[in-house]
Amino acid sequence: LIISVANTFALKVEKYGGTLDLDLDALDSTIYVDEMHITNVLFNLMDNAVKYRRQDVPLALLVRTWNENGKLHISVEDNGIGIKKEYLKKVFDRFFRVPTGNKHDVKGFGLGLAYVRKIIEDHKGSIRAEQGNNNIGTKFIITLPLIKS
Ligand code: ATP
Ligand code: MG
Repeated sequence: LIISVANTFALKVEKYGGTLDLDLDALDSTIYVDEMHITNVLFNLMDNAVKYRRQDVPLALLVRTWNENGKLHISVEDNGIGIKKEYLKKVFDRFFRVPTGNKHDVKGFGLGLAYVRKIIEDHKGSIRAEQGNNNIGTKFIITLPLIKS
């Protein structure tokens, strides 16, 4: 599912001269998901990475998966404008948008991440946002329970 969403999204990333990389570990594990909603979740996260990209460096988007503590982890990482620490939890609230004045004039309702969190929680998972490595960009990390074999 991740590969197919990424393939669709790669065209959009290319349009902006960016790169989209996949590092998919944990492919031998099983989870059951609502295909349409999890597709939307991935689209929302990747769409934000494009919307909140920096203008001075090409967008670099990385999607990783791995197993840890019996859970599947999916991260969507960008090198965009980043989110200040104080807002990392708030961005999941309905209608919340980080106040940036007119600096980054990007339209949105502030609903995408609230939807993302709702869908992930409906799958008994969780999602959090972190600042990227070296404080560049943002990393969204989803965890989902694995099916025990
Ligand atoms: P929409 O409802 O169309 O998705 P939106 O993108 O503003 O509108 P969310 O996706 O919920 O809403 O994101 C909330 C806010 O979090 C954004 O307005 C933006 O300020 C910040 N944000 C989200 N993703 C990123 C990101 N990858 N990099 C930087 N800021 C982000
Ligand atoms: Mg959004």
